[in-house]
Amino acid sequence: MELRADGSRPGLWTGFLRSAKLFPDRPAVVAQGTSLSYRQLREVAVRIAACIQAHREGSSTPLTAVFAHRGATAFAGVLGSLLAGNGYVPLNRTFPVERTRSMLVRSECRSIIVDAESLPQMDALMAGVDEPLLVIAPGLENPRPYRERWPLHIIVGAADLDGYADWREPDAREDAIAYLLFTSGSTGVPKGVMVAHRNVAAYVDHAAERFAVTELDIVSQTFDMTFDLSASDMFVAWERGACVCCPSQKTLINPGRFIRDQGLTVWFSVPSMVALMKQSGLLKPGGFPSLRLSLFCGEPLPVASVAAWAMAAPNSVVENLYGPTELTIACTGYRWDPKRAPLEAEMGIVPIGAPFPGMNVLVVDEHLNEVGPGADGELLMSGPQMSLGYWKDPEKTAAAFVVPPGRKEMFYRTGDRVRRPAGDGPLTHLGRMDSQVKILGHRVELGEVEAVVREASGVDGVVAIGWPVTSSGYGGIEVLIEGGPVDLDRLRAAVAARLPDYMVPRRWHVRSRLPRNANGKYDRKAMPAVLGDSQ
Ligand code: AMP
Repeated sequence: MELRADGSRPGLWTGFLRSAKLFPDRPAVVAQGTSLSYRQLREVAVRIAACIQAHREGSSTPLTAVFAHRGATAFAGVLGSLLAGNGYVPLNRTFPVERTRSMLVRSECRSIIVDAESLPQMDALMAGVDEPLLVIAPGLENPRPYRERWPLHIIVGAADLDGYADWREPDAREDAIAYLLFTSGSTGVPKGVMVAHRNVAAYVDHAAERFAVTELDIVSQTFDMTFDLSASDMFVAWERGACVCCPSQKTLINPGRFIRDQGLTVWFSVPSMVALMKQSGLLKPGGFPSLRLSLFCGEPLPVASVAAWAMAAPNSVVENLYGPTELTIACTGYRWDPKRAPLEAEMGIVPIGAPFPGMNVLVVDEHLNEVGPGADGELLMSGPQMSLGYWKDPEKTAAAFVVPPGRKEMFYRTGDRVRRPAGDGPLTHLGRMDSQVKILGHRVELGEVEAVVREASGVDGVVAIGWPVTSSGYGGIEVLIEGGPVDLDRLRAAVAARLPDYMVPRRWHVRSRLPRNANGKYDRKAMPAVLGDSQ
């Protein structure tokens, strides 16, 4: 087994346990207005872990679901799953229950940690779960009614949890899944990306050094746990004894106040958040003096956004990070330099920089042959952060994880179009090769939206597009339907019951004929011209 830089094993919990020893009384998490010290968070997480271990039968599954949002239970749940020796599967109560249930059932989790605010969804969620589940609800005072309603399942409430003290630190298996994260799938079904302990350890080791995190840092947590960038906030902070500061959804409406009130030192968000803050007049000169580091990732970063941010956060270094979930959080980075960066930017977008240690870059043409320096192509990457592939989907794994001609190593096909640097310049991001789009940082396969609309409407001719264009991606999704007639109110409700909010089309257009290209295929590029004003 390859040990980490500090000689520890690659189990994702080891950094937290070390910090809990070194800094037991420092805050590990601030969420829902309360602060939990490392000692307190460790205590709850260890109880959850002991409970999972006590109920493990023949260790049939290595995964635990965490159905909790922006609160202490979410953080303790993630740690508790890992300390039990399981990977975690983040679920999100802002998604439709049907989608959450499909993730729970497909991941074959036999245990789930639920926070008090997600409990009201549990009846609907459990309706389709036929295998016995261990339900750990640290905020549940009276489990009796739940036990009566769900006799198949074991329900552990707040008082029961206190009884679990017998915890054993698990063996770190570096290839075991640390988290399984479902992301949009082009054929209509979300894909589960399996990220191993060694993948996250490689990222965390580099990131903690690169960002020079210390126990004095206060790190933002703007991402939901269903977005892998949240793992960076937690594990990089806990690696060094820093504090993760998690705003509620409501607090996030005014991120500027959150930065000032909490005295954040490290900020991490999608670039869209900067654009929104700029539009709302929240970026005032010198407004965020406490920030020493600002990280952006998840979508193209406009030069104009950095300029506005740098003015508001004058003491902060700015980094543009790039990476798909399949390559673990972020795998290239570019440090903003006000003199050099505008010259290296293309089309007003900040370069994505250079690969992280051990990661290899290959820029290829459609036959997967390397293109020449200065030419465009698809970005392929390999190295220690390359994930294990898609959960129970060898076909999709084989399509995305490939050995290019003349190479021995496997590479992940990112689907991103980049320019191969000439000389020692940075990599620049030029767009996507496929129909994946970003909606305020959320990854959406337009094919998934189309599949769901097709199924719900019974109409074959469906095209979804990102619209309107924003500086970093798209503001939302619009859908065009060929033929009809369709009952749009019914269709909208049926689609909203299956897709998270950001994937639900904002406007629907029914046309007798949609534009096609010379091959008779729908011409996506021509679609915006026919949008008009329809609903
Ligand atoms: P996700 O798996 O949700 O993290 O989405 C990964 C995709 O987001 C990448 O394949 C890119 O298309 C896009 N992306 C992430 N970071 C950047 C960035 N810094 N610049 C441009 N695109 C990015």
